[in-house]
Amino acid sequence: MMRRLRAAIRAALCKCVFCAPQPPARNLPRMPDLADQADTQNEKLLEQYRARRAPTGPEPDGQCHYCRQPVGPDQRWCDRECFLAYEDEQDLLRRTGRRHPGR
Ligand SMILES: [Zn+2]
Repeated sequence: MMRRLRAAIRAALCKCVFCAPQPPARNLPRMPDLADQADTQNEKLLEQYRARRAPTGPEPDGQCHYCRQPVGPDQRWCDRECFLAYEDEQDLLRRTGRRHPGR
């Protein structure tokens, strides 16, 4: 009983980090707010990037626009190589003022 009382008095009077009561963590309730703000900002940025990357050019028609292999319903090229080759080809056709037959 006396030991507990002494410990309580020591805890009340002592200012060391072990005995002194810890101040309530004021930042803790704000953490979710900051995380929410960061989430919102990230979503906005992602949306901007997605809008910037919006596909341009030919619509998907079930075939690779370069090699004419079948591709998925939303795909326009088999892979990046075909996409880059298609762009090179289109660039060449644009510069020479010609159009690819059948495209
Ligand atoms: Zn292809």
